[in-house]
Parts: sequence; structure tokens; C-alpha cells
Amino acid sequence: MTEQIMDCPVCGGKNPELFAEAYDKEYFTSDEKYRYARCEQCTAVYLDKPPTDRLHEIYPPNYYSYGGIENSTTFTERVKARLDRRMLRKVLRGIPGRRLRVLDIGGGAGWMLDVARAASSRVAETHEVDLKKEPAEAAERAGHVYHCMAVEDFTSSQRFDLIMMLSIIEHVPDPRSVLRRMADLLTDDGLLLVKTPNTATLDCRLFRHRNWGGFHCPRHFVLFTAAGLARLGAECGLEVVRSQYTQGAPQWALSVMAWLSDRGMLRISADRPAYTHPVYELLTALFAAVDYARLPFAPTAQIVVTFRRAR
Ligand SMILES: [Zn+2]
Repeated sequence: MTEQIMDCPVCGGKNPELFAEAYDKEYFTSDEKYRYARCEQCTAVYLDKPPTDRLHEIYPPNYYSYGGIENSTTFTERVKARLDRRMLRKVLRGIPGRRLRVLDIGGGAGWMLDVARAASSRVAETHEVDLKKEPAEAAERAGHVYHCMAVEDFTSSQRFDLIMMLSIIEHVPDPRSVLRRMADLLTDDGLLLVKTPNTATLDCRLFRHRNWGGFHCPRHFVLFTAAGLARLGAECGLEVVRSQYTQGAPQWALSVMAWLSDRGMLRISADRPAYTHPVYELLTALFAAVDYARLPFAPTAQIVVTFRRAR
């Protein structure tokens, strides 16, 4: 008999359907088969019984994270820095105030905080919450206040003009409590930027049963559609200012690489995770172009929602 799938961690819905089965085809941290379910009620896709007690195992020491902006050496990283700066400049323009306080959740060595400072001279104070100890020194050297803890444990007497949760919400077991906390931490005119994979998209349809990169299996616990994320935000005291799509080249690339490796056409392993393979850089450049070309016509691989406190 197959074990019952747990209730939806977003809405408590009790009618999940099996969405996909997947393996860790990026870091090969185990041979375990994981199950993803889709909630009939709120449309969230979630990992059944996420391994929250095995975080050290599922995030191995070689787990990928960006260095500071000064380390952006590859072509893709330079392009990313430029696009991020342009995006943040636009977002920051929508926030009043002469001295802005910015918070980045899970930002590693502080790449996006560096970008925020470069995007506007009004960014006066930069904070970061991250579980990892290793990037603390680099982040502090760059002038950011580093809070080494889980986002669930972060509290502050200060409020923030801009909070960034880029590729984070999908990693937490209880996105509702995290979004509620973020709503409390926002200033009245502040903005919360949430970026996360999109389940209502072509790459998900193509690779759903083939270790879709968007699962980042087993590290993504909960996945959304734009509508589902907006609905959860509303229930947490947030309203949508802007909802858009952006390219998700890494999840395309990882999907294709898992597919190739299953067919013996590419060798990736625990010692050689997908993102260190030379093919990865090539595929991300290719699929960034594919998604940008599709952007005017179709929802692409990643959702970017800008929230503010509901009025
Ligand atoms: Zn649900």
C-alpha cells in the first residue's frame, strides 16, 4: 500500500493528487524517490513530507550560491548583474523616502544587496538573513548586516522599505507564516519582491515526470502559479502591485541535463553536480534567450510578484 500524501502545507487542503515523482539529479544527495503532490484546493505543488530534519544532507557543502557582485566573472553573471540592476532601479523608484532600508532573505554573500546599492543612492542600510555561516564574512565586509538564522526565526524592531525573497519561498516548509512575517516587517509604503518557479509553464509540462528542474528535488518544498501566490499573499495581508514573469534558464538547463544524464548522454554525479558542468553555462545562455523570446506571449519559467501591505 502506498503511504498517504500529507495535507497541503499552504491551505491545509486534504485532497492532494500525486503530481510527480522525482530524484535528486543535481547533487545526488541520496537515491531516494520523492513525491510531489498538487493541492486541488489552492493549486500549490508541494513535496510530500519534506526532509526538514536533513537540511545538512540535502544542502551539501558544494551547494551553489552566488559570490558578491565583484566576483561576477562569467558572461552570464555580468549580464545577470546588469539585468538585476535595471529591475531593482525600477522597483526602488516606486518606494518613497530619502534613506531606504533593504532586507534580502537568503542572499548568500550579498549579491542582490550590492546590486540594490548600485541601483539607488538612497539605499542606506542593507540587511541579510541567511541560514549559512560561510558567506557572513564576505557580506559583512561588503557592509551588509548579516543575520545568520532561518527566516522563520528572524524578528526585528526595524521595518524595511524593500524586502527581497528571490528563489526562497519555495525552500521553506511553511510559506504562509513566512509571508505573514514579511508583511509585518514592511514599512507602510514598502515593497516585497518574491521570485519563484512557475508551475503553469511549458518547461513544467515537458519535464514534470522527468525530474523537472523547478523541483530542485528535494530542496523545493512548495511551488506556485502566479494566481496561487497572489491569493496566499492576500491571505497574509499583502496586495499585488505588479505580477510578471521572467526567464528561468537554470531550471530549463537542469531539466535538460537530468534528461540527458538518464539516457547516458551526460555524466553528472555527487562529485560533479550539474551546475559545475560546462554544458550548464551553455544551456542557461540558450534557455535565457528562449524564455526572453517567449516572454511577450506566454508565462515563462519564473514568477516575480511585487507586494505591498494591503490597505
Ligand atoms: Zn492547498
